[in-house]
Amino acid sequence: MADTLLTLANDPRTARLVRMLGLPAPVVLAREAGPYRDQALADATFALGTGAAGFAIESVRAALQGAGARVLDWTDGAFAPEPPRLSGAVFDGTGIRSPDDYGQLHAFFQPVLARLARNARLVILAAAPEQLEDPVAAAAARGLEGFTRSLAKEVGRRGTNANLFYLEAGAESRLDAALRFFAGPRCTFVDGQAVRLSCQLPVPADVPITRVLRDKVALVTGAARGIGAATAERLAEDGAQVVCVDMASDRNGLYETAARVGGLPFVGDVADPATPDRLADFLLQKCGGVDIVVHNAGITRDRTLAKMSRQTWDQVVAVNFRAIMAIDQVLLARAVLRDEGRVICLSSMGGIAGNFGQTNYAATKAALIGYVSAQARQLARRGITVNAAAPGFIETRMTAAMPLFPRELGRRLCSLSQGGQPRDVAELICFFASPGAFGITGNTLRVCGQSLLGA
Ligand code: NAD
Repeated sequence: MADTLLTLANDPRTARLVRMLGLPAPVVLAREAGPYRDQALADATFALGTGAAGFAIESVRAALQGAGARVLDWTDGAFAPEPPRLSGAVFDGTGIRSPDDYGQLHAFFQPVLARLARNARLVILAAAPEQLEDPVAAAAARGLEGFTRSLAKEVGRRGTNANLFYLEAGAESRLDAALRFFAGPRCTFVDGQAVRLSCQLPVPADVPITRVLRDKVALVTGAARGIGAATAERLAEDGAQVVCVDMASDRNGLYETAARVGGLPFVGDVADPATPDRLADFLLQKCGGVDIVVHNAGITRDRTLAKMSRQTWDQVVAVNFRAIMAIDQVLLARAVLRDEGRVICLSSMGGIAGNFGQTNYAATKAALIGYVSAQARQLARRGITVNAAAPGFIETRMTAAMPLFPRELGRRLCSLSQGGQPRDVAELICFFASPGAFGITGNTLRVCGQSLLGA
């Protein structure tokens, strides 16, 4: 559904009126089409700084330069050379251990903020607080999360976002693909998030930079439309063979998506107890197994709990929660999911913040947050990562069906003052699915433009 305010705020004939009326003036967000590029950050200039001897700065520099970015160093309160407009900045705060180190955040970001282009990217790195024994050091590291979230709120009006990485010691060598994503134009609607980079998983045999999903088989449920269709397209762009699943009632959309991405359609209700084994048979026969599983199919049946029928309650639990557990159990028990695989669930902002009239939906979406964190530990030794994307307000049929007032609130109450596109969620899913994301498991990341609702 078209966002009229976004159009008016960016039309020279009406932009002034939007400002005079005191309405939010969202900027057009930068997005990138097509598959991953080798020089993902070509033409970009990044400021790079560190406070108190961070341990990740050389890995960051190598990652940014390897992706084609120009890197300007900040040392002793000055840039060398003096920067032009910056595409973004990375601050290595992994050495921050006390309140005395906090001045460096202020000293680095003040000059940077004055030089940021629109749609810039800010990335802050912190040591994982749980690995720091000294309580003061742990507190100082954890404080960077509050800093990042507040900074994201201040820069969002210009389409800029800010995200934080907590790095386990040694995980700095796993930053490459993560920085290509979070410092690049594909990270459009992931904002104000804290990402955990760990050393739990072994390094994969092959970490390609382009055509990252070549030779991979991906399963996407609910692929007939919306986020599922965008995900199938995005994964296929980077070389995956995609098995698209949807209900018989959405058969037309399913066949269209499958044809568009050169994939295979599978008609079935994920909540049908026969589906997991039918799917496993299909994947083994047609593709020899599966590497990427995207549990996207989901439904809402909103009603306050006092008025909700037991049938409505059960329907949502069956599709959004039980079906995912059942499919994964069969794919693992029958060895359909291969080593170095990727499991990605679609949680929701509702599962984090709760939502009026959505006790059923929020319970199931919060359950998935618990699932990815526990299942990630179980599957780490096989090199399989398990993560969740938690969308906020995304422009799909689900949100187009909302009444006008809640729909406008959902769109505007975020740092970027607009809804996201299905493609924005698909980009995060594609990143999670890529071999280079092997340092990221058990994470739930919101794709919500830093919605003001929830954490
Ligand atoms: P959508 O309603 O546009 O599409 C969902 C797809 O899943 C449809 O094609 C539908 O036919 C399919 N599906 C539903 N039940 C199924 C079943 N039992 N078996 C097989 N297929 C089934 O939804 P969307 O907006 O694209 O959302 C996709 C996912 O993202 C969902 O899990 C949703 O809860 C989550 N999400 C969406 C938003 C948003 O703003 N759109 C926000 C938060 C979370």
